[in-house]
Amino acid sequence: MAIGRLRLKPMSYDFPPWRPPSEANSLLVRVTRGCTWNRCTFCSMYKQLTFERRPAEDVKADILAAASLYSAEVRSVFIGDSNSLSIKTCDLAAILNQLYAVFPALERVTSYARAKTLLKKSLDDLRQLRQAGLTRLHVGLETGNAELLKKTRKGATPEEMVAGCRKAKEAGFELSVYVLLGLGGEHLSAAHARDTAAVLNRIDPHFIRVRTLQPQPGSELYDAMKAGAFVKASHETVLREQRIMVENLNVTSAYLSDHITNYIPVNGRLPGDREDMLRAIDKHSADLMHTTALHDRFARKDGLTRL
Ligand code: SF4
Repeated sequence: MAIGRLRLKPMSYDFPPWRPPSEANSLLVRVTRGCTWNRCTFCSMYKQLTFERRPAEDVKADILAAASLYSAEVRSVFIGDSNSLSIKTCDLAAILNQLYAVFPALERVTSYARAKTLLKKSLDDLRQLRQAGLTRLHVGLETGNAELLKKTRKGATPEEMVAGCRKAKEAGFELSVYVLLGLGGEHLSAAHARDTAAVLNRIDPHFIRVRTLQPQPGSELYDAMKAGAFVKASHETVLREQRIMVENLNVTSAYLSDHITNYIPVNGRLPGDREDMLRAIDKHSADLMHTTALHDRFARKDGLTRL
């Protein structure tokens, strides 16, 4: 059960609308609303929101409301929305201090972070946040391919992605990096896979987490797909793409397919589990050639347009 969903009332508590799947059991604390960037062509998450910092007293009131219900239970907190590190370091550190003061069993506090924001923060600031108890950062790499990063207006180059992520590791954070399978569509799939592996090899994050592109209404990519300007990758292409990426990864990361959009579960710790992971992909690729049932199952993922 996600802490807060049943007993905290949405009208009096401001829930972040999105969180990583791995934060399903975390208390959700909203420090900002929206995304500081809000321009990625594949993303519709915060399109309706103008970015704003929530007043400190409102955040504090939410934390106290949660503490009145769950003080002893909360072991992990996710801070939303999309880029909490964009606020002043001292303000975020004060919120972290408050969290640890009211939740005595708290072990983990995590947040999304943009690579560009990590680059802008000084190493001292990042260390200060780490010392205040921010433990894990979730960074959306999506792709390591320069052309695709530009096309999708991700707002960072491969070099900046590497530098921002390495800086977070240097500051002592656990790093969870997200990859978006299928982002290159049919035409850029192989380059997307190879270049993403190359960037991940330079970062060597603690976690690599994959999701699969299912274009969402409200995003530019969805409109491009409908207009025929973007050709969504086929099921076979997405599996082949994942195979190329896993084959080329030279990391010591946990690799997780922990998102509902993914066609198949490919999980393991690299490099040790690589062969098992490749075998799982190959088996599904072979099955796709012989059975329509698997296509039908995957097609249900293609229908996930209300994420
Ligand atoms: S993908 Fe992340 S950075 Fe890009 S618009 Fe969406 S929330 Fe913002």
